[in-house]
Amino acid sequence: MAQDTEQSFTGGVLPVDDEGFVVDTEDAEERETAHRERGTSRPITVVGNPVLHKECKDVTAFDDDLAKLVDDMFASQRTAQGVGLAANQIGVDLKVFVYDCMDDDGVRHVGVVCNPVLQELPADRRHLDESGEGCLSVPTAYADLARPDYAVVTGQDEQGNAIKVRGTGYFARCLQHETDHLYGYLYIDRLSKRERKDALRQMEEGTPRYPVVPND
Ligand SMILES: [Zn+2]
Repeated sequence: MAQDTEQSFTGGVLPVDDEGFVVDTEDAEERETAHRERGTSRPITVVGNPVLHKECKDVTAFDDDLAKLVDDMFASQRTAQGVGLAANQIGVDLKVFVYDCMDDDGVRHVGVVCNPVLQELPADRRHLDESGEGCLSVPTAYADLARPDYAVVTGQDEQGNAIKVRGTGYFARCLQHETDHLYGYLYIDRLSKRERKDALRQMEEGTPRYPVVPND
């Protein structure tokens, strides 16, 4: 979804800082609890399910159905002990992800992004950091993957207000990973052929600790 550069990033569900980024650390625990207690946990789709391998549809209706989906996503994320969850990971073809993720300073970030677009980083902010990554849709597998240690995502909150979210360290990794999901990419698609094969082998040998949707 194209972003209008003239839009103002204010007036959303969450307060914004003086640079216009959402303050997703405020009342993080209370907000996450409220969402998941209203929601119903759903099983997680796994690699091979077509819904994970194509671009999701834009969110156009910011209504009660979307609110219910977001609640279910927080409930599902908690059941699976994830730090981020994209809608197609519970089988819904819509561009929305939720997160409940610590950054490298141990600060908890909780939020929702609809129609996310990852912003290009200026060269001086683009530092690759290689560390371990996993995905609820590739259960029990982990691999090292180099990604920028800083990320900015623009999009909309669950009420349709324009927002921008930024993250560092592990939270930056999460923002990139979840945005990738909504465009049909898993982190294993960014690995070498050999590493990808190894991740799939780890998955075959392991047993997920949460309910998954079986592939046909
Ligand atoms: Zn994932």
